[in-house]
Amino acid sequence: LINCISFPCPFFAVYQVFESVAKKYDVMNDSMTLGIHRVWKDILMHKMNPCPGTLLLDVAGGTGDIAFRFINYVRSVRQRQLQRKLKQHQNLSWQEIFESYQKDKFNSLGDSQVVVCDINREMLKVGKQKAQHLGYSEGLSWVLGNAEELPFDDDKFDVYTIAFGIRNVTRIDLALQEAYRVLKPGGRFLCLEFSHVSNPLLSRLYDLYSFQVIPVLGEVIAGDWRSYQYLVESIRQFPPQEELKAMIEDAGFFKVNYDNLNFGIVAIHSGFKL
Ligand code: SAM
Repeated sequence: LINCISFPCPFFAVYQVFESVAKKYDVMNDSMTLGIHRVWKDILMHKMNPCPGTLLLDVAGGTGDIAFRFINYVRSVRQRQLQRKLKQHQNLSWQEIFESYQKDKFNSLGDSQVVVCDINREMLKVGKQKAQHLGYSEGLSWVLGNAEELPFDDDKFDVYTIAFGIRNVTRIDLALQEAYRVLKPGGRFLCLEFSHVSNPLLSRLYDLYSFQVIPVLGEVIAGDWRSYQYLVESIRQFPPQEELKAMIEDAGFFKVNYDNLNFGIVAIHSGFKL
C-alpha cells in the first residue's frame, strides 16, 4: 500500500529506497534483525557448500555480503584441502612445504569466481568500497544489471543466489526465468528471503515488531521512515513459502524445496536446473 501511495511506479520506488538507504544499509540490517541476518546468510552458504571452481552469480547482491561469505568459504575449503595434502607428506622439508603452498596459491580462490549483480549503483558503490577495505578483490566482480533481464549468456553459472532481493523485483516470474537461463544444466538456484510465520502468536508479535519498531529504527538510524516502512510492506506482500515454491517450479526448476528459519521469518528456497 505504502508503495503505491508514495511512489507511483514500483520500479522507481525500489530504486529510490535502495539509493537512499545504501550508505546505512549494513547498519540498518544489523539493527533491524538484531544481527541475525548474518546467521541466515551463513546458513545459506552452508546449504550451498560451494567447492573450489564454483562460478557464483549473486543477484541483488547489494553491498556484497553473500559474495564475501562465498570467498571466505571457498578459501577455507582450499585451506583444509591443502592441510590434508601436507599431512600426507609430513616428511617434506620446509622448502618443499613453502613451494607447495605457493603452487596451491594458499588462501586464494583457485578457479572460483563470484559476480555481484545489482540494479542500484549506490549499493554496488558501497559494496566495492567494503571489498576494498576488507581486502577482497581476487575472483570478485560487480555488474550493474536487472534481475529481470540479466546481462549474462545462457548456461554460464554453477550457482545463482538472491538474498533479500527477490521481493523487491517487480516481475518475480521474469527474474526466475532469467535465473534458470543463466544457470548451467545441473546448476543450483538458492533464494534467501523474508517469508511468513505460521504460528499465530508469533506472527502477531512479529507484526508488532515490523510495523511499530522497524520504521522507528529507520528514522532514528538512517533518518528515513518511509524507506523502512516500504521494506516492511514488501515483506508482508511477498508470496508465502508454498506459493514461491510453485513459482520456482513454473520457471522450470526441479527438486524445489525450502527450509524455514526462525519459524518462517525467513525461508531458503532451493532448486536445480536439469
Ligand atoms: N543481497 C544483499 C543482502 O543480502 O544484504 C542486498 C539485499 S537488499 C535488501 C535488496 C537489493 O536488491 C538492493 O541492493 C536492490 O538494489 C536490489 N534490487 C532490487 N530490484 C532489483 C532488480 N530488479 N535487479 C537487481 N537488483 C535489484
